Amino acid sequence: MGYTAETRVLQVNPQHPEPEVITAAAGVLRAGGLVAFPTETVYGLGANALDSQAIERIYLAKRRPAYDPLIAHVYDFAQVQQLAIDLPEIARPLTEHFWPGPLTLVFKRAPHVPESIAQGLDTVAIRMPAHPVARALLDQTGFPIAAPSANTFTRPSATTAAHVLEDLQGRVDLVLDGGASTIGLESTVIDLTQDPPVILRPGGVLLEDLKGLIPQLAVNPKYLSNPMPSASPGMMIKHYSPRANVMLFDGPIEVVLIAMADTAQRLIANGKKVGILTLEEEAVHFTGLGARIISLGKREDLSQIGRVLFGAMRALDVQGIDAILVHNFEKIGLGEAISDRLLRAASGRVIRVE
Ligand code: AMP
Ligand code: MG
Repeated sequence: MGYTAETRVLQVNPQHPEPEVITAAAGVLRAGGLVAFPTETVYGLGANALDSQAIERIYLAKRRPAYDPLIAHVYDFAQVQQLAIDLPEIARPLTEHFWPGPLTLVFKRAPHVPESIAQGLDTVAIRMPAHPVARALLDQTGFPIAAPSANTFTRPSATTAAHVLEDLQGRVDLVLDGGASTIGLESTVIDLTQDPPVILRPGGVLLEDLKGLIPQLAVNPKYLSNPMPSASPGMMIKHYSPRANVMLFDGPIEVVLIAMADTAQRLIANGKKVGILTLEEEAVHFTGLGARIISLGKREDLSQIGRVLFGAMRALDVQGIDAILVHNFEKIGLGEAISDRLLRAASGRVIRVE
């Protein structure tokens, strides 16, 4: 059994949220309920971050195991000082540069903050979202809002209200439908309790930009190279996964395209339904195979690819596709986050071709 609720859906203007909608949503949160709302990264499943029973409902609704901690969303820096202690000096310049925005910082947790938000860790992850709906909600409630991505655990994150309902219909009190998230990938998570700080999850803020403030910053190499489930939070290799089996190809692009087309042909001959996520300029390699092809965009337009990636995987799932074929991306700029999500969608398995 999980948390059950009658799910209401309200439309909200993503630029100028209607005050009456925000008031209704804030009321649900104040009463300890769950509200899914748009943010610039992905949709969040929100609850009062200072109410441990409300936090418990998030875990039930998401069917999320007890080892994956949540991000607390804040309205201003004063709320950071309420939630966290021993802030390192770098916190100020980092937040001044990148907040509001897709950057999450892990600090030491203040003693009064429910331990369930961090699942017993003595830390807390905090982000200040930029989305007007998220900001209006935080403003109206006056308390920080714990909000993981609004999807069932291990599924691709929800980037539209329809995706939220696919996973959480009957498990969340209210969904605010404010259209598609503009980034479509989750926040970058930096652990500031380590010295030097480490990126636990690549995301919307780029490593290249962060290095301006933290030159020694690195993406935790264990996280990227180790395909085993890890003890550290949020690093499980199977994550962001559609129901279809994701086959992630890597190698020189000409050989990869041939291997993908051959694999698609073989699977289809064996009666499988195959989906291919491809770049616009590569789609021509896959015509006539009988695969369902989704173009993610042009190679150089990584923001576009990031924005549509999760939705494309979900669209193929809805069509009952058995296998999704896709190739890896260079880990440059947003390509770092995209290739991380693809690796985890593929449960860490990479098909290397030479
Ligand atoms: P989500 O909100 O679904 O995008 O996932 C939240 C992610 O934030 C987790 O999977 C972790 O990677 C990270 N996170 C949250 N809290 C902590 C924490 N206290 N320590 C380290 N990582 C955290
Ligand atoms: Mg998530």
